[in-house]
Amino acid sequence: MTKVILIVLDGLRYDAARTCLGYLEGLVAEDRAEVRKVACELPAMSTPLYETLLTGRKPVDHGVVSNGVVRRSEGDNLFARCRLEGNVTAAAAYHWVSELYVSCPFDRHRDRILIDGSGDITHGLFYWDDQYPDSHLFADAEWLIRAKAPDFLLLHPMNVDDAGHKHGGDSIGYRNAARAQGDLLARHLPGWIDSGYRIIVTADHGMGDDGNHAGPTPDETEVPFYALGFRLGPDVVLKQTLIAGLICRLLDVDPGTIPIYDGALFIS
Ligand SMILES: [Zn+2]
Repeated sequence: MTKVILIVLDGLRYDAARTCLGYLEGLVAEDRAEVRKVACELPAMSTPLYETLLTGRKPVDHGVVSNGVVRRSEGDNLFARCRLEGNVTAAAAYHWVSELYVSCPFDRHRDRILIDGSGDITHGLFYWDDQYPDSHLFADAEWLIRAKAPDFLLLHPMNVDDAGHKHGGDSIGYRNAARAQGDLLARHLPGWIDSGYRIIVTADHGMGDDGNHAGPTPDETEVPFYALGFRLGPDVVLKQTLIAGLICRLLDVDPGTIPIYDGALFIS
Protein backbone atom coordinates (compact mmCIF):
# COMPACT_ATOMS: atom_id res chain seq x y z
CA MET A 1 0.00 0.00 0.00
CA THR A 2 1.12 3.54 -0.69
CA LYS A 3 2.13 5.52 2.40
CA VAL A 4 2.12 9.31 2.40
CA ILE A 5 3.92 12.11 4.23
CA LEU A 6 2.35 15.57 3.99
CA ILE A 7 4.88 18.29 4.83
CA VAL A 8 3.34 21.71 5.45
CA LEU A 9 6.08 24.34 5.66
CA ASP A 10 4.19 27.01 7.57
CA GLY A 11 4.29 30.41 5.87
CA LEU A 12 6.58 29.47 2.96
CA ARG A 13 5.55 31.43 -0.11
CA TYR A 14 6.08 30.16 -3.63
CA ASP A 15 8.96 32.37 -4.78
CA ALA A 16 10.97 31.65 -1.63
CA ALA A 17 10.43 27.91 -2.08
CA ARG A 18 11.62 27.99 -5.68
CA THR A 19 14.76 29.96 -4.78
CA CYS A 20 15.66 28.46 -1.39
CA LEU A 21 14.73 24.72 -1.36
CA GLY A 22 17.88 23.51 -3.09
CA TYR A 23 17.40 19.77 -2.67
CA LEU A 24 13.82 19.78 -3.91
CA GLU A 25 14.75 22.01 -6.82
CA GLY A 26 17.55 19.56 -7.64
CA LEU A 27 14.96 16.77 -7.87
CA VAL A 28 12.76 18.97 -10.05
CA ALA A 29 15.68 19.81 -12.34
CA GLU A 30 16.31 16.09 -12.84
CA ASP A 31 12.59 15.40 -13.40
CA ARG A 32 12.42 13.28 -10.24
CA ALA A 33 9.84 15.58 -8.64
CA GLU A 34 7.02 17.75 -9.87
CA VAL A 35 6.37 21.27 -8.61
CA ARG A 36 3.52 23.65 -9.21
CA LYS A 37 2.07 26.86 -7.83
CA VAL A 38 -1.09 26.58 -5.74
CA ALA A 39 -3.20 29.45 -4.42
CA CYS A 40 -4.23 28.99 -0.81
CA GLU A 41 -7.78 29.64 0.31
CA LEU A 42 -8.77 32.68 2.36
CA PRO A 43 -8.17 33.94 4.93
CA ALA A 44 -4.47 33.19 4.36
CA MET A 45 -3.97 32.12 7.96
CA SER A 46 -2.74 29.02 9.72
CA THR A 47 -5.55 27.20 11.52
CA PRO A 48 -8.11 27.88 8.79
CA LEU A 49 -5.76 26.37 6.22
CA TYR A 50 -4.62 23.39 8.30
CA GLU A 51 -8.30 22.53 8.37
CA THR A 52 -8.60 23.14 4.62
CA LEU A 53 -5.59 20.94 3.84
CA LEU A 54 -6.96 18.14 6.03
CA THR A 55 -10.65 18.34 5.10
CA GLY A 56 -10.66 19.69 1.55
CA ARG A 57 -13.12 22.41 2.48
CA LYS A 58 -12.68 26.18 2.31
CA PRO A 59 -12.54 28.15 5.58
CA VAL A 60 -15.86 29.83 4.77
CA ASP A 61 -17.33 26.31 4.52
CA HIS A 62 -15.64 24.46 7.41
CA GLY A 63 -16.03 27.47 9.69
CA VAL A 64 -12.51 27.76 11.12
CA VAL A 65 -12.09 31.26 9.69
CA SER A 66 -9.58 32.59 12.24
CA ASN A 67 -6.72 31.37 14.41
CA GLY A 68 -9.07 32.46 17.18
CA VAL A 69 -11.61 29.75 16.36
CA VAL A 70 -10.48 27.14 18.85
CA ARG A 71 -12.43 23.93 18.54
CA ARG A 72 -12.27 20.40 17.24
CA SER A 73 -12.60 19.81 13.51
CA GLU A 74 -16.13 18.95 12.43
CA GLY A 75 -17.08 16.47 9.72
CA ASP A 76 -14.71 14.23 7.79
CA ASN A 77 -10.96 14.78 7.93
CA LEU A 78 -8.04 12.95 6.44
CA PHE A 79 -6.78 11.46 9.71
CA ALA A 80 -10.24 10.13 10.58
CA ARG A 81 -10.82 8.64 7.13
CA CYS A 82 -7.46 6.85 7.37
CA ARG A 83 -8.27 5.49 10.81
CA LEU A 84 -11.66 4.17 9.69
CA GLU A 85 -9.83 1.77 7.41
CA GLY A 86 -7.37 0.67 10.05
CA ASN A 87 -4.45 2.83 9.00
CA VAL A 88 -1.95 4.32 11.43
CA THR A 89 -1.80 8.13 11.42
CA ALA A 90 0.82 10.41 12.94
CA ALA A 91 1.68 14.07 13.27
CA ALA A 92 4.70 16.14 14.27
CA ALA A 93 2.97 19.48 14.31
CA TYR A 94 2.01 22.70 16.04
CA HIS A 95 -0.42 22.36 18.94
CA TRP A 96 -3.26 23.86 16.91
CA VAL A 97 -3.27 20.59 14.94
CA SER A 98 -3.74 18.73 18.22
CA GLU A 99 -6.66 21.02 19.05
CA LEU A 100 -8.34 20.29 15.72
CA TYR A 101 -7.87 16.51 15.71
CA VAL A 102 -6.96 15.27 19.21
CA SER A 103 -8.25 17.37 22.11
CA CYS A 104 -9.22 20.97 22.68
CA PRO A 105 -8.02 23.11 24.36
CA PHE A 106 -4.41 21.91 24.18
CA ASP A 107 -2.97 21.04 27.59
CA ARG A 108 0.83 21.24 27.54
CA HIS A 109 1.14 18.87 30.47
CA ARG A 110 -1.09 16.27 28.90
CA ASP A 111 -1.06 16.62 25.13
CA ARG A 112 2.56 17.15 24.03
CA ILE A 113 3.13 13.45 23.37
CA LEU A 114 0.43 11.11 22.07
CA ILE A 115 1.17 7.41 21.72
CA ASP A 116 -1.40 4.83 20.66
CA GLY A 117 -4.24 7.32 20.69
CA SER A 118 -7.68 6.01 19.86
CA GLY A 119 -8.87 9.11 17.97
CA ASP A 120 -8.08 10.59 14.57
CA ILE A 121 -4.31 10.76 15.20
CA THR A 122 -2.69 7.55 16.43
CA HIS A 123 0.71 8.99 17.39
CA GLY A 124 1.61 12.66 17.76
CA LEU A 125 4.38 14.94 18.96
CA PHE A 126 3.12 18.51 19.34
CA TYR A 127 4.87 21.82 20.11
CA TRP A 128 3.64 25.31 20.97
CA ASP A 129 6.72 27.54 20.77
CA ASP A 130 7.10 29.13 17.31
CA GLN A 131 10.87 28.92 17.84
CA TYR A 132 10.77 25.16 18.48
CA PRO A 133 13.67 24.21 16.22
CA ASP A 134 12.69 22.73 12.88
CA SER A 135 15.72 20.44 13.27
CA HIS A 136 14.13 18.92 16.37
CA LEU A 137 10.72 18.66 14.73
CA PHE A 138 12.17 16.80 11.76
CA ALA A 139 13.85 14.49 14.30
CA ASP A 140 10.45 14.04 15.96
CA ALA A 141 8.99 13.00 12.61
CA GLU A 142 11.97 10.72 12.00
CA TRP A 143 11.24 8.93 15.26
CA LEU A 144 7.55 8.56 14.45
CA ILE A 145 8.40 7.08 11.07
CA ARG A 146 10.99 4.64 12.37
CA ALA A 147 9.17 3.61 15.55
CA LYS A 148 5.56 3.67 14.37
CA ALA A 149 5.68 3.31 10.56
CA PRO A 150 2.56 5.45 10.04
CA ASP A 151 0.57 5.10 6.83
CA PHE A 152 -0.03 8.85 6.85
CA LEU A 153 2.12 11.41 8.63
CA LEU A 154 1.78 15.19 8.84
CA LEU A 155 5.01 17.13 9.40
CA HIS A 156 4.51 20.80 10.12
CA PRO A 157 7.52 23.03 10.96
CA MET A 158 7.07 26.69 11.97
CA ASN A 159 10.45 28.46 11.78
CA VAL A 160 9.94 30.02 8.32
CA ASP A 161 6.64 31.59 9.37
CA ASP A 162 8.28 32.82 12.56
CA ALA A 163 11.14 34.40 10.57
CA GLY A 164 8.64 35.99 8.17
CA HIS A 165 6.79 37.66 11.01
CA LYS A 166 10.06 38.97 12.42
CA HIS A 167 11.79 40.07 9.22
CA GLY A 168 9.17 40.19 6.43
CA GLY A 169 8.71 37.95 3.41
CA ASP A 170 11.39 39.71 1.36
CA SER A 171 14.27 39.49 3.80
CA ILE A 172 17.53 37.73 4.49
CA GLY A 173 16.12 36.27 7.70
CA TYR A 174 13.09 34.75 5.95
CA ARG A 175 15.03 33.31 3.05
CA ASN A 176 17.70 31.85 5.32
CA ALA A 177 15.01 30.15 7.40
CA ALA A 178 13.67 28.66 4.15
CA ARG A 179 17.17 27.52 3.18
CA ALA A 180 17.52 25.85 6.57
CA GLN A 181 14.23 24.00 6.01
CA GLY A 182 15.45 23.03 2.56
CA ASP A 183 18.54 21.49 4.13
CA LEU A 184 16.43 19.55 6.63
CA LEU A 185 14.40 18.18 3.73
CA ALA A 186 17.68 17.07 2.16
CA ARG A 187 18.78 15.32 5.34
CA HIS A 188 15.56 13.40 5.93
CA LEU A 189 13.64 12.88 2.69
CA PRO A 190 15.98 10.43 0.93
CA GLY A 191 15.54 7.93 3.77
CA TRP A 192 11.77 8.39 3.80
CA ILE A 193 11.61 7.91 0.04
CA ASP A 194 13.68 4.73 0.44
CA SER A 195 11.16 3.55 3.04
CA GLY A 196 8.43 3.73 0.41
CA TYR A 197 6.73 7.01 1.24
CA ARG A 198 5.15 9.29 -1.34
CA ILE A 199 5.75 12.83 -0.18
CA ILE A 200 3.97 16.16 -0.66
CA VAL A 201 5.74 19.38 0.33
CA THR A 202 3.52 22.43 0.42
CA ALA A 203 2.59 25.39 2.65
CA ASP A 204 -0.54 26.61 4.35
CA HIS A 205 -0.10 30.22 3.18
CA GLY A 206 2.59 32.64 2.03
CA MET A 207 4.07 35.75 3.62
CA GLY A 208 3.74 39.44 2.81
CA ASP A 209 6.77 41.68 2.65
CA ASP A 210 5.45 43.53 5.68
CA GLY A 211 5.72 40.41 7.82
CA ASN A 212 2.20 39.11 7.93
CA HIS A 213 -0.41 37.20 5.95
CA ALA A 214 -4.19 37.08 5.71
CA GLY A 215 -5.43 38.55 2.42
CA PRO A 216 -5.45 37.71 -1.28
CA THR A 217 -2.12 39.16 -2.48
CA PRO A 218 0.14 36.75 -4.39
CA ASP A 219 2.85 36.98 -1.71
CA GLU A 220 0.35 35.82 0.90
CA THR A 221 -1.50 33.19 -1.14
CA GLU A 222 0.89 31.59 -3.64
CA VAL A 223 2.45 28.46 -2.16
CA PRO A 224 4.48 25.58 -3.60
CA PHE A 225 3.26 22.04 -4.16
CA TYR A 226 6.04 19.48 -4.66
CA ALA A 227 5.14 15.87 -5.50
CA LEU A 228 7.72 13.13 -4.83
CA GLY A 229 6.99 9.57 -5.90
CA PHE A 230 3.98 10.48 -8.02
CA ARG A 231 2.91 13.09 -10.54
CA LEU A 232 -0.30 14.73 -11.55
CA GLY A 233 0.37 15.51 -15.16
CA PRO A 234 0.56 18.88 -16.88
CA ASP A 235 -3.16 19.46 -17.44
CA VAL A 236 -4.19 19.31 -13.80
CA VAL A 237 -5.20 22.59 -12.16
CA LEU A 238 -4.55 21.80 -8.52
CA LYS A 239 -6.45 23.60 -5.80
CA GLN A 240 -5.62 23.56 -2.12
CA THR A 241 -9.06 22.02 -1.51
CA LEU A 242 -8.12 18.99 -3.62
CA ILE A 243 -5.02 18.00 -1.65
CA ALA A 244 -6.92 16.03 1.03
CA GLY A 245 -8.79 14.09 -1.65
CA LEU A 246 -5.55 13.51 -3.54
CA ILE A 247 -3.98 12.01 -0.42
CA CYS A 248 -7.02 9.77 0.09
CA ARG A 249 -6.54 8.52 -3.45
CA LEU A 250 -2.81 7.95 -2.92
CA LEU A 251 -3.62 5.98 0.25
CA ASP A 252 -6.56 4.20 -1.38
CA VAL A 253 -8.79 5.46 1.42
CA ASP A 254 -12.50 6.23 0.97
CA PRO A 255 -12.68 10.05 1.20
CA GLY A 256 -16.20 10.13 2.60
CA THR A 257 -17.36 13.73 2.26
CA ILE A 258 -13.85 15.04 1.54
CA PRO A 259 -13.90 16.44 -2.04
CA ILE A 260 -12.51 13.79 -4.35
CA TYR A 261 -9.49 14.31 -6.57
CA ASP A 262 -10.39 12.71 -9.89
CA GLY A 263 -7.63 14.17 -12.06
CA ALA A 264 -4.65 12.41 -13.58
CA LEU A 265 -2.40 10.58 -11.12
CA PHE A 266 0.69 8.59 -11.99
CA ILE A 267 2.41 6.76 -9.15
CA SER A 268 6.10 6.09 -9.77
ZN1 LIG B 1 2.12 33.27 10.40
